Amino acid sequence: MNVNQSAPPVPPFGQNQPIYPGYHQSGYGGQPGPAAPAYGAYNGPLPGYQQTPPQGVPRAPPSSGAPPASTAQAPCGQTTYGQFGQGDIQNGPSSTAQMQRVPGSQQFGSPMAPQVNQPAVLQPYGPPPTSTQVTAQLAGMQISGAVSQAPPSSGLGYGSPTSLASASGSFPNSGPYGSYPQSQAPPLSQTQGHPGVQPPLRSAPPLASSFTPPASGGPRMPSMTGPLPPGQGFGSLPVSQPNHVSLPPAHAVPPGSQMTGPSVPPPPMHSPQPGYQLQQNGSFGPARGPQPNYESPYPGTPTFGSQPGPPQPLPPKRLDPDAIPSPIQVIEDDRNNRGSEPFVTGVRGQVPPLVTTNFLVKDQGNASPRYIRCTSYNIPCTSDMAKQAQVPLAAVIKPLARLPLEEASPYVVDHGESGPLRCNRCKAYMCPLMTFIEGGRRFQCSFCSCINDVPPQYFQHLDHTGKRVDAYDRPELSLGSYEFLATVDYCKNNKFPSPPAFIFMIDVSYNAIRTGLVRLLCEELKSLLDYLPREGGAEESAIRVGFVTYNKVLHFYNVKSSLAQPQMMVVSDVADMFVPLLDGFLVNVNESRGVITSLLDQIPEMFADTRETETVFAPVIQAGMEALKAAECAGKLFLFHTSLPIAEAPGKLKNRDDRKLINTDKEKTLFQPQTGTYQTLAKDCVTQGCCVDLFLFPNQYVDVATLSVVPQLTGGSVYKYACFQVENDQERFLSDLRRDVQKVVGFDAVMRVRTSTGIRAVDFFGAFYMSNTTDVELAGLDEDKTVTVEFKHDDRLNEESGALLQCALLYTSCAGQRRLRIHNLALNCCTQLADLYRNCETDTLINYMAKFAYRGVLNSPVKTVRDTLITQCAQILACYRKNCASPSSAGQLILPECMKLLPVYLNCVLKSDVLQPGAEVTTDDRAYVRQLVSSMDVAETNVFFYPRLLPLTKSPIDNTTEPPAVRASEERLSSGDIYLLENGLNLFVWVGASVQQGVVQSLFNVSSFSQITSGLSVLPVLDNPLSKKVRSLIDSLRAQRMRYMKLIVVKQEDKLEMLFKHFLVEDKSLNGGASYVDFLCHMHKEIRQLLS
Ligand SMILES: [Zn+2]
Repeated sequence: MNVNQSAPPVPPFGQNQPIYPGYHQSGYGGQPGPAAPAYGAYNGPLPGYQQTPPQGVPRAPPSSGAPPASTAQAPCGQTTYGQFGQGDIQNGPSSTAQMQRVPGSQQFGSPMAPQVNQPAVLQPYGPPPTSTQVTAQLAGMQISGAVSQAPPSSGLGYGSPTSLASASGSFPNSGPYGSYPQSQAPPLSQTQGHPGVQPPLRSAPPLASSFTPPASGGPRMPSMTGPLPPGQGFGSLPVSQPNHVSLPPAHAVPPGSQMTGPSVPPPPMHSPQPGYQLQQNGSFGPARGPQPNYESPYPGTPTFGSQPGPPQPLPPKRLDPDAIPSPIQVIEDDRNNRGSEPFVTGVRGQVPPLVTTNFLVKDQGNASPRYIRCTSYNIPCTSDMAKQAQVPLAAVIKPLARLPLEEASPYVVDHGESGPLRCNRCKAYMCPLMTFIEGGRRFQCSFCSCINDVPPQYFQHLDHTGKRVDAYDRPELSLGSYEFLATVDYCKNNKFPSPPAFIFMIDVSYNAIRTGLVRLLCEELKSLLDYLPREGGAEESAIRVGFVTYNKVLHFYNVKSSLAQPQMMVVSDVADMFVPLLDGFLVNVNESRGVITSLLDQIPEMFADTRETETVFAPVIQAGMEALKAAECAGKLFLFHTSLPIAEAPGKLKNRDDRKLINTDKEKTLFQPQTGTYQTLAKDCVTQGCCVDLFLFPNQYVDVATLSVVPQLTGGSVYKYACFQVENDQERFLSDLRRDVQKVVGFDAVMRVRTSTGIRAVDFFGAFYMSNTTDVELAGLDEDKTVTVEFKHDDRLNEESGALLQCALLYTSCAGQRRLRIHNLALNCCTQLADLYRNCETDTLINYMAKFAYRGVLNSPVKTVRDTLITQCAQILACYRKNCASPSSAGQLILPECMKLLPVYLNCVLKSDVLQPGAEVTTDDRAYVRQLVSSMDVAETNVFFYPRLLPLTKSPIDNTTEPPAVRASEERLSSGDIYLLENGLNLFVWVGASVQQGVVQSLFNVSSFSQITSGLSVLPVLDNPLSKKVRSLIDSLRAQRMRYMKLIVVKQEDKLEMLFKHFLVEDKSLNGGASYVDFLCHMHKEIRQLLS
């Protein structure tokens, strides 16, 4: 094979990208024509397609012959994911709401006092600030709140001027740092400890982001607030040093903090300031005893103002929420600092921009962060160091990630009959990390050091630097990501695969018919089948399709093109499933279009009067898998299923939902499948390359934990539409279905992660099956799925050679082409722990930790899982404190700059529905979310655990960019504004009670707040700038997410608001989840215990 012998001019490294399109023209890779951007054609729906209005016609339920009440009349009472609008909200007025009631406003009329910039830190170890200072500072804070706030509502105190927090939220337009004004003003207790202890900051500038203690008077954050005013005395403080905030000493924390106890009732409401009192003294959970002097002084201030300077006994410790690390600020900073330049992957160990930053990637030898993100880009050289730090070493890999249009899909390289060039010993694939020696006749493998001969047809001379002169012309020598065409050796049974098939398997039991689902689905499929994934420039998809309907029995359809009408074959022996027809079952859509259309027209009619309520499930999957086996191809089953499969058949299930198990040692059984049948079935599916996507439409418990086993183990997806109703849910369902059917999938895949000597992949998280310890088997892998891989040391690493990863995914493309996709990534190695902490990525850490915890609940009590996370987090931070930060007061919490959001994000994981369910969360919801998170990428887990909250009415209407987000806390809501909240699955529009009438009119087309329909799921289409802006924002958010987010309009103080508040993750949650501030205090206490 010598197609690669021609030698195009060698471009400079930085310009290699542009010439790649020439690969194919110049015969590289032997790909005829422009095959490289193979996925371009199906990277998304064709324009206009998604806009096609749903064509389903809701069918009214049969008016007679209602089926047995046990199933058909199943109540839909549980509030479920995505079904919030219809949930039966049982919560009365919330205790949280009570707690957050804000007392009368305090008007501080003076402008921002200059004194606010006089941080107590200027007087280290000195006397506490005088009361005047405190007052002035307080005044400064309050003013900023009062200026832009609407008057406090008479009810819940959203964003009233007394809320410091909302003050910052009200300055979205004051620049990226606008939300920090309050941090200048210290919290009220000025007396504690050694406020001036800042050395860690100065001594480890790039590393630390420590916290301003309430005690220290909250020094102004130089980097966050812009240039320091003169005379600040911060000259020696590096500008890059952000918020140095220390927590109060945790002296008052009683042993056995209760924050982990899920059943702990919400603490008594002591004060009108949400979350303030409860964490004073660093205490957690229920407030310990009365805390006199506190409530009244704070809101009322006068007491404070007249406090004599000396510290009070037991001074109230409060953390200013604005002085603790803000996710919004970190995200904004990263966008501002790293969003404008492309991320060039040529340098080893570079930490990429955050997932929340829009940036372009230039592949110069390492895989794009869209494909691989790591918890750290600098790995400790020894396992001892790694154990000390407790920072998980993991990579989140999304092998088939969709790229933005501006970035080229991986080039396909064809090495001909000899196949891809690999290391003889470790089998790593040729990549830019290999070193050519002996004039180019041999190469040394960077993974195992083996020296290999270069085959004659691959030989090329080296330049004076030892690089092959054709390095920049070959993707596998210059890029981080590329593909190889696989030879027959890489195929099952040494046979090139057939194109895959899609089989649509539709529940036609009473429930499916009654809700209109079957009619809607059949109507949609008629057009959707034209949008099956296609390869490159192919005119039509190579994917064949087949159809099955079922209830207690299965109906197969012969849709052979030569037939005038489809033929049905019924298989009632579900215990011994077989496929009654081969010829005519899997067909080409275009060839059989007439018959298929006829079938899809007939199915809703055929079963219109069904009274069958029972369904089978395992036999359906079995049938689909057998059909693929008979056709000798891989493929995907699309199952549309409505109920617990109670009909007599393999995989029959019983209702075993039992919420009483929550918080017991048996809670884990709620997440485990109730029978082993499905694991066995899944294993067979994987062998066949049969991936299962499951669309559930339950009216009641369906045992998602069991039904999702096969999708989970075959790389499939689960979608759940509780209490499905066509009129409410069709948009969401059809949108998900269209995306799911069209997305890029690799079939019959095996993924292997190779590493250089010293570390190895030891654990894997995601939707796949493993029959040995190294190969991740994926019946299907789509563009959204990620696999998280954890690494451990097995030897000492070397700073010079670094640590290398190579992920190789062998798969069958939608056109039936067998390929290998290769991603390479080189990381640095360090002998100093500080380098580890300086190069971490918290979003990726959280992705790993969430998956680790969500898998842990299968085997351990949930409380144990939560405690493990907390302990690990504390160990990570304590190790930093001990080894990387300079000595300082124990009263300070010092966090590594790259991990300053670890506590807030971890707290969100801890109080998520899987680990700490609220009363409204069903067992199925938890199993569903657990399953979803297991394949999420870093961007998805980021927004899922910490939702985005966007003010809609604060910024100018003509502003086309996304409004700056505010922190997910009730304090940030102003009753005069409207906000949008999204987390990738849910989407809310929250309307404050005192929003201007004009705004209400513009957005909802009604004249007053009271006329807005609570629970509304569609905004009226109105021709005014605000309406257009909000609707287009919603569209763009939906387009960013993997699943369609159904909108729910929530009004302030409406009962639906409880659902919304569940997502305000910085606040204390009703089910006992700690507030951010409380959790930070708790974490501080844990760290101190570890250090003492
Ligand atoms: Zn090797």
